[in-house]
Amino acid sequence: MDHFLYRNGHLHAEEVPLSDIAAAVGTPFYCYSAATLTRHYTLFKDALNPLPNLVCFAIKSLSNVAVLKLLGDLGAGMDVVSGGEYLRARAAGVPGDRIVFSGVGKTREEMRLALEGGIRQFNLESEPEMRALSEVAASMGVIAPVTVRVNPDVDAKTHAKIATGKSENKFGIPISRAAEVYAEIARLPGLKVVGIDVHIGSQLTELEPFEQAFRKVADLTETLRAQGHMITRLDLGGGLGIPYTRSNEAPPLPTDYGAMIKRTLGHLGCEIEIEPGRLISGNSGVLVSKVIYVKNGEGRDFLILDAAMNDLVRPSMYDAHHDIVPVIEPPPASPSRAYDVVGPVCETGDTFAKGRDLPLMADDDLVAFRSAGAYGAVMASEYNTRPLVPEVLVKGDQFAVIRRRPSFDEMIARDSIPEWL
Ligand SMILES: *Cc1c(COP(=O)(O)O)cnc(C)c1O
Repeated sequence: MDHFLYRNGHLHAEEVPLSDIAAAVGTPFYCYSAATLTRHYTLFKDALNPLPNLVCFAIKSLSNVAVLKLLGDLGAGMDVVSGGEYLRARAAGVPGDRIVFSGVGKTREEMRLALEGGIRQFNLESEPEMRALSEVAASMGVIAPVTVRVNPDVDAKTHAKIATGKSENKFGIPISRAAEVYAEIARLPGLKVVGIDVHIGSQLTELEPFEQAFRKVADLTETLRAQGHMITRLDLGGGLGIPYTRSNEAPPLPTDYGAMIKRTLGHLGCEIEIEPGRLISGNSGVLVSKVIYVKNGEGRDFLILDAAMNDLVRPSMYDAHHDIVPVIEPPPASPSRAYDVVGPVCETGDTFAKGRDLPLMADDDLVAFRSAGAYGAVMASEYNTRPLVPEVLVKGDQFAVIRRRPSFDEMIARDSIPEWL
């Protein structure tokens, strides 16, 4: 459920008509709903209660500081995958002891930054990384709390680019070698084991792969405890999928996910950490764009929008589907037409949808891409020297620009011409 609904024939974000925002901010723009973000976070909290837990928002899915502040103020932790994301979380007022640091290639500088600023735990992904963190922590005279991300070798049954839990993926340490690695951590200075971490992929639409992975984590917990390690936290990663179409998809609900976690891991007495990204942010955002031209080609009609693949890359990168809806609700039984929905960027990959049924559209009409809150704005680029799309946050009847559109002068001024040229 989200808070983007038609009221009086106009698509609203909560109580604000999207066309009002378009008039004030210009198009294209991303718009997020505070009520939807809050609702999704709360669903996870409720699903895990009464187990001790921390819901760490995966901020790579949507990293605007205003959004992080909203979630942080509700008590959310944050899952970060870079020094930059760590600084964003801190800028949003999230304390270090609610931030977990994931990612396969943490640099020594990033480790130092997090140790200085305060960190809940590092999720280690390899032995070289483990040794580097030991050196950095020992040289600073501090102890780094760690988990090891184990790779459980399960098939997440999702898009190849976002599956991470098979042995051929670059992520984590094979679960079969975990005991050896934990033993080495126990010997190294500057490190302290606090738990186990696992994350098998993104946009999973079944619970079964999670359950397989979590059962392996439960067994590993018992093995490691028997070997004398203190396993008090289980970080289960993110990855729960969302419905991208209104009709047929029905991914598992956070309630079912929570019940399965309690069933498979509840007896271990661990604090449960989860790292949902997409399920909190995905349906909390839309991308609003304007039709520049309706172009009638041979046997095909094109809707040329002012948004492009650089603003929302998921369709061209992951073959992802986004529902596209007119901002002004068409009257019932109005005629429709199949459009190829494209952006103005100079490559054929700049296609959002082919043969998509939409009501008859005209130049300057507004459309909204649904489910664009996750992996939307954060993956945008300035390809074709197109300014990064602004972001707007709505709460009730209020809205505010939470990242403004840069001017062309600002964009061009970042380049410099060497004096020897
Ligand atoms: C990407 C990622 C997540 C979030 O995944 P979603 O599918 O957005 O829930 C969580 N943890 C790690 C380690 C990740 O890489």
